[in-house]
Amino acid sequence: MAHKARKRFGQNFLTDKAVIERIIAVIAPKFDDNLLEIGPGKGAMTLPLLAQVRQLNVIEIDRDLIVLLQNFGKDNLLIHQGDALKFDLSTLPNPLRVIGNLPYNISSPLLFHLLENRDKVVDMTFMLQKEVVQRMAAAPGSKIYGRLSVMMQAFFQVDMIFIVAPSAFEPAPKVDSAIVYLKPLAKTEVKNIVVFTKIVKAAFSQRRKTLRNCLKSLLTQEQTAIDLSKRAEMLSVQDFINLENDYEKQHQN
Ligand code: SAM
Repeated sequence: MAHKARKRFGQNFLTDKAVIERIIAVIAPKFDDNLLEIGPGKGAMTLPLLAQVRQLNVIEIDRDLIVLLQNFGKDNLLIHQGDALKFDLSTLPNPLRVIGNLPYNISSPLLFHLLENRDKVVDMTFMLQKEVVQRMAAAPGSKIYGRLSVMMQAFFQVDMIFIVAPSAFEPAPKVDSAIVYLKPLAKTEVKNIVVFTKIVKAAFSQRRKTLRNCLKSLLTQEQTAIDLSKRAEMLSVQDFINLENDYEKQHQN
């Protein structure tokens, strides 16, 4: 029976063979890589990948698609049914290479879930809404530089690889998509990710206000060399890391 695309699961299936080939070329899988695909759908990327690796883990939420994937009858395809947001990555062989044409409706929470699990990850290659990729890769001073840019760039090398038009999908989404490559940085100076998240969130909570205003309950000008009369969008990722380190100094006992 034909599967009808479900909006609530963000289903836009890749059908353009040339685009699929380009994505596989970016991933460049090696036979022994521990690959995890999030949202394999009808297998547009899964099938070509299966031909190249020893085994491929996939996590898919839609039970109808699980049946379709099982019917491929591939021994090297390990299917997990469930929500990728709740999936425990430590149950899989590590370190992982994570890939996926991600459901756009959950892309931000999924990126943050993966951020928390970055110690188990070698790299990640994702298809996302183009605007989201642009925000992830944005530089300070630009209008789209914000919480997502700082959180991603503090922990990953972020590279936008290429743009994909809506016509590559069925059904076609309303917006352009883009392939992004994420590689965890070898080391980060962030001491406490929870505190860092709190500071970045507070700093961008009111974009028009100064940092002095936004960070009132967290840091004063006397406690940091960063100029708090600036707005959050003017600070580099390193400046945010310095703010977090300064906060930590105040709260050491
Ligand atoms: N990879 C396929 C392709 O490129 O044609 C499908 C991509 S489609 C944009 C997103 C896929 O993610 C769908 O198969 C959808 O059912 C699945 N999905 C949506 N929400 C999910 C979740 N929370 N956990 C796991 N899979 C999810």
